[in-house]
Amino acid sequence: MSSLKPAAPYPWPEGKASAFCFSVDVDAHSPWMWNNRDNPPALLSHLEQRHFGPRVGLARLARLLESVGIKGSFFVPGAVAEAHPWMLPELVDAGHEVGLHGYFHELVQQVSDAEFSRMLEASIALFEKQVGKKPAGFRSPAWEMTPHMVAEVKRHGFYDSSLMGFDTPYCVDGLTEVPVNWATDDAIFFKFLGGPGVDGWPPVGTDAVLSAWREELTASRKFGTLFILTVHDWISGRGARTLMLEKLLGSVLSDTGIWVATVGEVAAHYEAVTPGRDAVSPEIPETLFNHPAWKGA
Ligand SMILES: [Zn+2]
Repeated sequence: MSSLKPAAPYPWPEGKASAFCFSVDVDAHSPWMWNNRDNPPALLSHLEQRHFGPRVGLARLARLLESVGIKGSFFVPGAVAEAHPWMLPELVDAGHEVGLHGYFHELVQQVSDAEFSRMLEASIALFEKQVGKKPAGFRSPAWEMTPHMVAEVKRHGFYDSSLMGFDTPYCVDGLTEVPVNWATDDAIFFKFLGGPGVDGWPPVGTDAVLSAWREELTASRKFGTLFILTVHDWISGRGARTLMLEKLLGSVLSDTGIWVATVGEVAAHYEAVTPGRDAVSPEIPETLFNHPAWKGA
């Protein structure tokens, strides 16, 4: 499929040379629940930092999007929607997309296939109860996937947004994939909980991140790719970071060649206009110990 010959540019909608999505992983306290599931400690600091998201940060991000007139894609763990039953209905009322993000932000490496499937069905049931319909998309906690997850997410008819094998939409065993990018995720720059043995480096300043993300925007425009921004309620809802996002959105919106869309709109565009483009298989290579080079054959 691939070669050194340049691929045809990805066909974004008429008049658009690249795309931009504003996605929010509304983790709030759910990773704390998962990480401490066996023995929750009587400690408040990390919980309070995470509760800042639903209390303050999410509304601040929503106001920013409203002020510039764009819609975001909010991936919400079931436990977060359950603890804050206003959240999904208010996001939907404001015209945003809501999508799945695990139930307890359960980490893929730490659950069985059966547990994953059960949590997925519990999340779907909760979304249906709170907003009256199934969401369109799934994003895995911490952006890991297994072949079983690919099959299950596809079976339920969702698109996925968790992998990064291309920088334009593609498909994994028939599952539409809207790729993410660590370089445009706020957590790698700003996540800092503090405490013994946690996050041993200080967060990066907003000037440096704004500069890096503007370079990503320039590159996305030049190569005709998708710039998928991923921020978190409790991380980028902090004041200076929200102001930085406002500046970034100013750069995005000043360029009419950039298609600003929800992640679901990008998935729908892929399925309507380029179905099957860049199709890959989720196969895991077999052990190298059977390889002839290893066996000396
Ligand atoms: Zn997350």
